[in-house]
Amino acid sequence: MIYYNKKQLYDKVNEFRAKWQMRKAPYDPYEACRKEKRITIDEMPYKTKGVRGMLKIDETGHHILLNSVRTKTEQNFDLAHELMHSVLHASEDRTAFLCSLRITRNHYLEWQANEGAAEFLVPYREFLQDIRGIKESLRTEDDLYSFKFSEAVKFRVSVQTITYRLETLRYEIRQNLGGIAVEDVAVVSNKAQLATAMAALSLNEEYYGKKARKFKPLCVCDDGV
Ligand SMILES: [Zn+2]
Repeated sequence: MIYYNKKQLYDKVNEFRAKWQMRKAPYDPYEACRKEKRITIDEMPYKTKGVRGMLKIDETGHHILLNSVRTKTEQNFDLAHELMHSVLHASEDRTAFLCSLRITRNHYLEWQANEGAAEFLVPYREFLQDIRGIKESLRTEDDLYSFKFSEAVKFRVSVQTITYRLETLRYEIRQNLGGIAVEDVAVVSNKAQLATAMAALSLNEEYYGKKARKFKPLCVCDDGV
């Protein structure tokens, strides 16, 4: 199994974005799948919204099955998640990835697909710049919510995905707000942050205080290495 830490994973995803010639938001996973010619996409109703879908690999190609019970915005993220399995994990010698919303702490490939999908859809460099451009005018939690909503529309993701990005990129965001240029910002995993006791306050925590606890990601984002 190839282990990427958060920085290596983000570099990899951005190499793919360049290969797919995607330069402007929204970053469309359907378009990326069309460019990766071996991928087919179908959908079917699962019994629960707790299933993202699956990727099946056989001699005819990589077949993604999305859960039609989920909203179009959720499916956009789910497709990016399965796309990450397809481009990053084809050498894992597995014929299927069945993907649930809830993943266990140590399920490394699922972490990688989720974090890779988040970086594909909402690239951290662009996100940090957007935050820096608006931070001075953010005064209340409603202002933060409006910002999250406009970013969700821009990147074609749910507000929840933007909320999670604010959590998992909190240290990178603080560096940039503190004056470090985006290209010089150190990308650091949650685990590495905690290990070095440099965990920073997220914008959710700054504006929502204790209420921000409800924004903690379903999966503890961890680079698994
Ligand atoms: Zn998965």
